[in-house]
Amino acid sequence: MTSRKTPILITVVALCAVAVFFATYFIAAGKARNDLRAAGQRQLQIVALDLQSILDKFETMPFALGALADVDQVLHHPDDAEAVARLNQTLQSIQRQSRVLAIYMMDDKGMTLAASNWNEDTSFVGRDFGFRPYFSEALAGRIGRFYGIGNVSSEPGYFMAQPIYPAGVPRGQGAPIGVMTVKVDLSEFEHTWRSSDDPITLVDSSGVVFLSNRPLWKYHSLRPLDSRRQQELAGTHQYADQPIASVGSMRREQRRGFGEHIMQAIPKQGWQLMLFPSQARIARVAMLWAMWVALVMAIAAISLWALYQRRRRLQERLESRDALRRAAQELDATIAVRTQELRVANQALGGRYAKLQQTESLLRSTQNELVQAGKLAMLGQMAAGMTHELNQPLAAIRAFADNAVQFMRRGQLPQVEENLEHISSASAHMGKIIGQLKGFARKSGDAIAVVDLPQTVEAAVLLLRNEFQQQAIAIEIDVRHPVQVMGDAVRTEQVLINLLRNAIDAVDSVELVANKRVTVILDREGIGADAEVVIRIRDTGPGIPDEVVPHLFEPFFTTKSTGKGLGLGLAISSSIVQAMNGQLSAHNLPEGGAEFIVRLPDISEQERTS
Ligand code: ADP
Repeated sequence: MTSRKTPILITVVALCAVAVFFATYFIAAGKARNDLRAAGQRQLQIVALDLQSILDKFETMPFALGALADVDQVLHHPDDAEAVARLNQTLQSIQRQSRVLAIYMMDDKGMTLAASNWNEDTSFVGRDFGFRPYFSEALAGRIGRFYGIGNVSSEPGYFMAQPIYPAGVPRGQGAPIGVMTVKVDLSEFEHTWRSSDDPITLVDSSGVVFLSNRPLWKYHSLRPLDSRRQQELAGTHQYADQPIASVGSMRREQRRGFGEHIMQAIPKQGWQLMLFPSQARIARVAMLWAMWVALVMAIAAISLWALYQRRRRLQERLESRDALRRAAQELDATIAVRTQELRVANQALGGRYAKLQQTESLLRSTQNELVQAGKLAMLGQMAAGMTHELNQPLAAIRAFADNAVQFMRRGQLPQVEENLEHISSASAHMGKIIGQLKGFARKSGDAIAVVDLPQTVEAAVLLLRNEFQQQAIAIEIDVRHPVQVMGDAVRTEQVLINLLRNAIDAVDSVELVANKRVTVILDREGIGADAEVVIRIRDTGPGIPDEVVPHLFEPFFTTKSTGKGLGLGLAISSSIVQAMNGQLSAHNLPEGGAEFIVRLPDISEQERTS
């Protein structure tokens, strides 16, 4: 379900709920109305029966009273005071026994001749009731029935009148000579109706309420009375002389409950018994039902909503799981693609690395050859000095040999022995020099071993001794620390010879012999892991010119004349030192001259840490 549809759905459901609510209300109201009407109808029937039975009970009473002994006498002789007094007494005692309001007898003109209330202030005796309808009805031979407010007593009551016929004349024959009337109090009915919440009224044939459990409604009509009827009522003095207003014209709170009603006819009297079912109760019952239905709908709606939410959450969870799976698949695909790319790149890199290795090995062999070439070149440069170095002992050997021959001839054997010893030591010296040369010229085989630096320095200096001597250069070796390094002894010697020869060349230009000096310092610098072996070769030459400094370690860079320098010495030396994990640097000294510094890892330190 899309979110766009949801508001429409909610509106439709809400409208349906409202419709159901109102439908329930109206159906329940209809049913409640019917129920109430049915109940009211039953109630009215009972009330009507009750009323009817009471009215019937009293209805024969005037007729029976007409047969009293003195009735005929009084009607024929109204001035017979004794008979009147007797009849009054009789009527009074019967009235008290039967608990009616009054019993009285009129002549055929309506004049009251005898009455039960003869001795009261409101006595009917001597009163003319000829205007009352019940009188005329009875005089006409019928039963007079009438409800009204007493003309004399002002008490409301139900009047029943029967004609009195002359004694001996059968009933219904001849004209009546008088009328006997009984007035009954119906207000007790009202009392029994008070328990009912709904208004109950007894209404006469013209619609005037004369009994009701709503006292204010009494002597009001259900419908406005026309003027003819009003005049009629005034004529009979039925409800005293006040005009009859309609209930509908009463104030709102006074006529509360007036409206829809049910009726039960009291046919004999032409009355209507009415009950006004409480509209408020109908509304209450209907509202209760509607509220119940609303509650059920609310519970159903909440349950459905919860169910819907649960389903939606479930669906969302499924969707998010799907999305997650899709993302994982996409990721896998991407990874696969990247892996493939990486593999290809790796292969390319592998190829390049192999090529690099080839190039490197080519470079190494080239470098080795270059080192060898540099060495041989150096040997060539040293050849003159070497020759001189070898020539000297050789000349000494020849001189000692010649002398030895002379001494032998003279038989001076001790001198011969001494000369031979000189020869031996001179040849041993030569052997030493040649051994050094041989060792140096040998192609080194990358033999890594412990190199004892003082010894190497000494060997290098020995090879260059002739040059130092010829140019009267003082050589100082200052071993401040017995130092050893890891590497190739021959190559280390090659570096030292290179640096020493450059120092000799530099010092050569110095005029003053006292100032011709080359110093080799062997030392250890730094502590702990930073400790290193340092070889410093200082000279008292002119120093390195500024324009030379940037090119010092470039191959084939030289300031020397052809044949004297190739410009390879420092380049080769630097690469040899780097191969031994060291560093070659140079700078000029403040007091003049250059200093070349070889820094190499201190193996005594390495041994300690490893
Ligand atoms: P070469 O000795 O064959 O010239 P090198 O590479 O050994 O080649 O030296 C290069 C240059 O460095 C030399 O030509 C020289 O100008 C300069 N140089 C080397 N050592 C010194 C030094 N001790 N004093 C001054 N200049 C030097």
